[in-house]
Amino acid sequence: MILSAGAVNSPQLLELSGIGDPQLLRSLDLAVLSSAPAVGQGLQDHLAVSYFYKSRVPTLNDELLPLIGKLRAALRYALTRTGPLAMSVNQAGAFVRSRPELSRPNLHLYFNPISYTTTAGRRRRLLNPDPYSAFLMSFNSCRPTSRGTVHVKSRDPLDPPAIVPNAMATPQDVQEVYEGARLLRRIAAAHPLADVIESELQPGAPIQSDSEVLADFRQRAGSVFHACGTCAMGADPRRAVVDHRLRVHGLAGLRVVDASIFPAVTSGNTNTPTTMVAEKAADLILQEG
Ligand SMILES: Cc1cc2nc3c(=O)[nH]c(=O)nc-3n(C[C@H](O)[C@H](O)[C@H](O)COP(=O)(O)OP(=O)(O)OC[C@H]3O[C@@H](n4cnc5c(N)ncnc54)[C@H](O)[C@@H]3O)c2cc1C
Repeated sequence: MILSAGAVNSPQLLELSGIGDPQLLRSLDLAVLSSAPAVGQGLQDHLAVSYFYKSRVPTLNDELLPLIGKLRAALRYALTRTGPLAMSVNQAGAFVRSRPELSRPNLHLYFNPISYTTTAGRRRRLLNPDPYSAFLMSFNSCRPTSRGTVHVKSRDPLDPPAIVPNAMATPQDVQEVYEGARLLRRIAAAHPLADVIESELQPGAPIQSDSEVLADFRQRAGSVFHACGTCAMGADPRRAVVDHRLRVHGLAGLRVVDASIFPAVTSGNTNTPTTMVAEKAADLILQEG
């Protein structure tokens, strides 16, 4: 049996099936099939925050806000497979070291020539960018060290599990927010980008001290949707859910194959690494005949 329900639903299904922390299962009146205290522990994700800049030159906002611009972009894509709709929204990115002494990049940067600061909370907000030229830059920590949890709240399979991100719980994660914000602002202040920036829209000039930057991050940061780690792979059944062949510890005939098995979040995006897990699992299963 192969469980591939993702980092939120794989631990949920294990717990509903009686595989999890016995104390938690008993508290919800779930029969314990196998003690697996690591189920639902170890949740990780990438949390990013965007810095928005008003621009002196046109951006995709100017092209995609008017209805005629939307129609033109749609038609162009339909006829030629080119134009803004043929491109990734993240048109530039980088993996950088926030301090020169680091041996490898610790921050992931994103650049989008579009912004939506005035449309927050509205329906279909991403279809309507801001009514002025603007763009955004974002960052997230590549290897956050905080760990959250995903656990069932009841025996009802239709009741969504509780997701507790527990983000920004370690000094390293907090430090990387300070460094990421400083770095984005350094890039924005450097030529040639500085020449096209009229002003920083968000968080805005008044937000300067580390505590203000952190408060802003806590308020505005969002998931990059890289949830993983809730059925982690490892040798110790007290800390890991599956072994190095993706078999659930203590049970025969059950594997977990999805992003939940990552022992730690990958430093970049998670889609391809998840495909790699699946490819590896296929090989392991074939080897066993
Ligand atoms: C909005 C968004 C944007 C993203 N953008 C990127 C990106 O640009 N680049 C990148 O690398 N990654 C991106 N990701 C992350 C990437 O999609 C995930 O890391 C990857 O899909 C994880 O794969 P998975 O198999 O673990 O889980 P999933 O892809 O979530 O697959 C789990 C599947 O299980 C099904 N399922 C769950 N419960 C049950 C059940 N009880 N019964 C039956 N089926 C069930 C779900 O419907 C789903 O199809 C993005 C994710 C999101 C949500």
